[in-house]
Order: sequence, then structure tokens, then C-alpha cells
Amino acid sequence: MISKHLLLPCWEVDNVITSIDHNEIYIRGLRSLLLDVDGTLLSKNSSCLDKNVFSWVQKLKKVHKIYLISNNPSFSRIQAVAKELDLPFIHKALKPRTYFLIKALNEMGSDINEAAIIGDRIFTDVLAGNRIGIYTILVRSIEKGNRYKYNKTHNVEKFISSMLGAYKK
Ligand SMILES: [Mg+2]
Repeated sequence: MISKHLLLPCWEVDNVITSIDHNEIYIRGLRSLLLDVDGTLLSKNSSCLDKNVFSWVQKLKKVHKIYLISNNPSFSRIQAVAKELDLPFIHKALKPRTYFLIKALNEMGSDINEAAIIGDRIFTDVLAGNRIGIYTILVRSIEKGNRYKYNKTHNVEKFISSMLGAYKK
């Protein structure tokens, strides 16, 4: 179930995070979730959560433990999102480094076999998750009005991953 290769997501959702069915997460045995923030929960250019994203997270919270884990250096930005969602958070997480992922999982008292990271980037979110052996879910970026740029970045990451022999579509 867990990917044995770096840069290979366990589950690629070809859509934004809100397209993920909560039951599907449960069925896959996942109980603790590390959520990326920028590009995954909201646009980098926005400070307001979309209503759908807010509702999706609230429903997820009823069954799962959740921790926000962001590479964004702005404490105030990530704190504001965490406060709105009433979730613990780490900013400046330095993904793909693993220290803060492990710290978050320990704080939640999570079983590593039931943990997953959900994010929009292969080279930070997926790689960090792969490195500590947790389930990884790659979602499409939620960025609005910048589709071309996003696709370009995402495709470049996939291309490099495939060159490294890791990514298989
Ligand atoms: Mg992101």
C-alpha cells in the first residue's frame, strides 16, 4: 500500500482536495491526516478559505485527526487558517524535510500506518511523506486564475520524477 519509491504518490487525485470522498479516506485505513495549506486548502493569493474547503475539512474532522503542515514562512497567515479551521499547525515546515511531520504525528499520537499527507506538490509533500513511509495523496492545486503556471510546475515535477524512474502514470 505504501509507496516504496520516493516521489511517487500512493494516491493521485486528479482534482482539488474537496473532490476526495471522506469514506474513501476511511476505507483506505487512514485516520490521521497532515494537510498542506498553500495550493491545497487555499490559493497563495488568498487569505480566505472557500466555503467548500471549510465544509470539507469540518466533515473530515469528525472522524480524523488533522494537522496543518505548511512550508509558508508566515506565522500569521498559517495561524489565521488554522484558527478558522480550529486545527493545530506548523508553519515553515521545511518539507521535504521530515522533522516537523514526525513532530506533528507524535503530537497527535498517530499510528504511522494510519497516517497520510495530502498536498499539491510532489517535491515537498509527496517526497516528505515518502521519506517517513506514510501514505501520500497528491491533489491538484486549488490556485485560481493561474492554471497554466500551475500545470507547468506540476508537469515539470512529474517529468523529473519520471526521469528518476519514480513516477508512473
Ligand atoms: Mg502546497
